[in-house]
Amino acid sequence: MTTMTQPADQQVAGGPLNDAQTQLREATTILGYDDGLHAMLAAPRREVTVSIPLRRDDSRIELLTGHRVQHSLTRGPAKGGLRYSPDVNLDEVRALAMWMTWKCALLDVPYGGAKGGIRIDPRQYSQAELERVTRRYTSEISPLIGPERDIPAPDIGTDENTMAWLMDTYSAQQGHTVLGVTTGKPVSLGGSRGRATATSRGVVQVALAALRSRGIDPAGATAAVQGFGKVGRYAARFLAEAGVRVAAVSDQYGTTAASAGLPIPAVEEHVDATGSVVGFACGDQVDDLLTLDVDLLVVAAVEGVLHAGNAAEVRAQVIVEGANGPTTPEADVILQDAGRLVVPDILANAGGVIVSYFEWVQANQAYWWSAAEVEAQLADRMTSAWERVSEHAARLDLPLRTAATCLAVERVAQAHLLRGLYP
Ligand code: NAD
Repeated sequence: MTTMTQPADQQVAGGPLNDAQTQLREATTILGYDDGLHAMLAAPRREVTVSIPLRRDDSRIELLTGHRVQHSLTRGPAKGGLRYSPDVNLDEVRALAMWMTWKCALLDVPYGGAKGGIRIDPRQYSQAELERVTRRYTSEISPLIGPERDIPAPDIGTDENTMAWLMDTYSAQQGHTVLGVTTGKPVSLGGSRGRATATSRGVVQVALAALRSRGIDPAGATAAVQGFGKVGRYAARFLAEAGVRVAAVSDQYGTTAASAGLPIPAVEEHVDATGSVVGFACGDQVDDLLTLDVDLLVVAAVEGVLHAGNAAEVRAQVIVEGANGPTTPEADVILQDAGRLVVPDILANAGGVIVSYFEWVQANQAYWWSAAEVEAQLADRMTSAWERVSEHAARLDLPLRTAATCLAVERVAQAHLLRGLYP
């Protein structure tokens, strides 16, 4: 028997946790909170790191590492995605969990924030191996999760199959089916209609509103979309359907572009057939999608892609964060000084957690809504969040991110203060 291990978890200097902490510090300073309250808001409530021994299909044993961080439980059960990526580390999961807390509070869904991750490149593993990894990870974290404790959902590298395995493993341990332990499940297994496209619908809804707020008519506007996964793909599709000319899309393998506008359905077919946007016929060559001369840039891939080294080169008037944490605080300052409008992650990509909330409500009631009902309620919540954040930003002369973070942090702090300290 051969045993393979991964390198020990490494602390990342800078990185998403530093970004999340910087954003929180700015908000608590504006809100006038003292150090004690700031510390309560900054620290994760619970975190667990687990070892996941995996028997590969060729019988070798490999030891993987997984994390689950519950940043806050103050407003309700923790909620947040599960990420499978070779870049996962504990600090990244901590940052993503904190952003989930603010997102849930901003949208007023009754959850705290959490995130999970396993350091694994899912493309290197068979479906059977990924199922075993998911089941073992679920088993290891099962004391912490549940419909009233912590409710995982898909994120980078995971999908509705992952959620079905997670739900099944948890249910087997409980002795009965527990649909509400996860969201983002297949519709045939208690998933919500409209969940798969919800994040992208919300992204596009606020992107169109943001363009209009800048006097740019979406019909005829141009856009570039980074990331062509669960968020980026449908964002590109819905933008094109709204009349926006999507001039470029990218994934981790490269970019495809056409200044006249890409035929997104054909790009989707190409991705389904080949696994990447690269090689799509009729494409132009572009060096860097992020700095294309377009009206709208949607970043829907990973953290930290807009940073001090490239923010000044961004030419889009409106940047919409489909991804979590794609803009570093240094880049935020540069983009703000250049007059760009950045619609922050905790607002822009909240459609996913909104419909996850609807899925959890439906699962707990065993009563299923129509797609039209889901989409109408999603649109209502995104519209009111956009209006509240825009109005708060305009009134206090703050960037949208700062306004959104202040609104969210204030809501969590109020819940802390109302609940009081035990004992
Ligand atoms: P995914 O795994 O389905 O897709 C990720 C995409 O990004 C893939 O196309 C991948 O090739 C691409 N990518 C990775 N690195 C890249 C790079 N350096 N340059 C260009 N493309 C790159 O993941 P997803 O669910 O679409 O998540 C994307 C982002 O959206 C993440 O930040 C995630 O946390 C956030 N998010 C997802 C949801 C959701 O409902 N899935 C909800 C809110 C936020």
